[in-house]
Amino acid sequence: MKHWCCLLLLSVVSCFSAKAELPKADLVLEGVVTVAQNHTHFMVPFTVPTGVHRITVDFSYDHRLEEKTVFNIGIHDPAGFRGQSGSNKDHFTIGPADATPSYIPGSIPAGQWNLLISVSNIRPEVTSKYRAEIRFNSPIEDSGFTLEPLEKNLRWYRGDLHMHTGHSDGFCASQNGRHVPCPLFLTAQTATSRGLDFIAISDHNSLAHYAEMRALQPYFDKMLLIPGREMTTFYGHFNAFGITQYVDYRVAEKNGRTVDQVVHDVRALGGIVSINHPESPTGEQCRGCGWAPPTPTDLSKFTAVEVVNSGRLMDKFWDKQLATGIRLTAIGGSDNHDATKGEDVRGALAHPTTVVQAKELSVSGILDGIRAGHVFIDLTASKAKSLDVDASTSHGTAHMGDLLEAKRNDDVRLQVHVAGCSRGQVQTIIDGKPAESMLQVENDDQTLETHWTSDGGRHWIRFIVRDASSNPMLVGNPVYVNY
Ligand SMILES: [Zn+2]
Ligand SMILES: [Zn+2]
Repeated sequence: MKHWCCLLLLSVVSCFSAKAELPKADLVLEGVVTVAQNHTHFMVPFTVPTGVHRITVDFSYDHRLEEKTVFNIGIHDPAGFRGQSGSNKDHFTIGPADATPSYIPGSIPAGQWNLLISVSNIRPEVTSKYRAEIRFNSPIEDSGFTLEPLEKNLRWYRGDLHMHTGHSDGFCASQNGRHVPCPLFLTAQTATSRGLDFIAISDHNSLAHYAEMRALQPYFDKMLLIPGREMTTFYGHFNAFGITQYVDYRVAEKNGRTVDQVVHDVRALGGIVSINHPESPTGEQCRGCGWAPPTPTDLSKFTAVEVVNSGRLMDKFWDKQLATGIRLTAIGGSDNHDATKGEDVRGALAHPTTVVQAKELSVSGILDGIRAGHVFIDLTASKAKSLDVDASTSHGTAHMGDLLEAKRNDDVRLQVHVAGCSRGQVQTIIDGKPAESMLQVENDDQTLETHWTSDGGRHWIRFIVRDASSNPMLVGNPVYVNY
């Protein structure tokens, strides 16, 4: 068969050094096509080893524009068709739960796969070289849905880290007013209309939402979609961020796993975990809504805790952990279950907003900001309020989330910068105990100052900005003294 002749020039090269922005390709398939293959389909075989859960392909060929050469591509696994994207996509990825539109997500069986090349057009005088770079288990494709940061600026990014869609128990009214699983795109649409820079969709124990998130991310190129998942157990709920692979969530006293094992797996995949609504009641109304793991759990392996859930401030559990020396970043989440919920309703998307200082708008950027504790929560879902803290001694300065060393009798100057909070008041909380008097905020952009004398021991100092009626507006993360 004539069209197989191109395989004579096929080379499979290992350890090829790829484009600067991509990791090295695991395989490179190359060959040439001439008019002899015009209007034919041919397969380029390659071997997928065991242990592969994701395949990513970057395809290119020459003489495209000037000579109107057109190749359509697709891919077959050992059992058959896994998608084809014509000539409209040069890059695609197929993972266990998500794939580039045109391709079918699912497990990646080891064995012989075939890249399908369909020669739609090639002129008689043209010899076109093609090249397919194949990568296995690409970490960046596993942890999010975009290869590039959406923005490369160090700034405060505003987002919502907890919400549900029709892929778990998110429901909304259909066109005819029926109660239906709420489509995920409405969540993205509503969140972007509220000015958010990022959202983490965290359906209960689900991976099914990632395919839609991957399909939506190119359109929502101002708002980052972070893969989230609410690990929902009988003994507590916690969010995993930044992973798309399955983790066995089945914690059980008698025949299941421990929370520690689940957390270990999430971290091993590069994700972080955050305890959700730990102070909620648990029982028949809501099993596992409060935090009560059946076996001792190492909370130091958690990165964060939800201190504001659906508009409710709950910081007692958090302070209790901080008192034992465990640093957990306070974050918030709307826990939205209906994307069409009006803006000023409890549990509406963006209520509360979690504001993260990050070097860029990417999954790793936002997660690093949370790891560093450079975070405050905005319960008013404003687009403008801000809180920043400088704590300094004669030896150094620390911001929210940072460590400050302060010896006995060192004077610590605490500068609290607040914006958008005029006529509000700033409450200082040291070791979980609020100071007796509040600092008054006079105008829209102000730096307030207070002092504290260190006793050389371990302390945490944090601030809440309240409105004139004492309702919390902004909740900041601590400066950790001598941790
Ligand atoms: Zn929950
Ligand atoms: Zn939830």
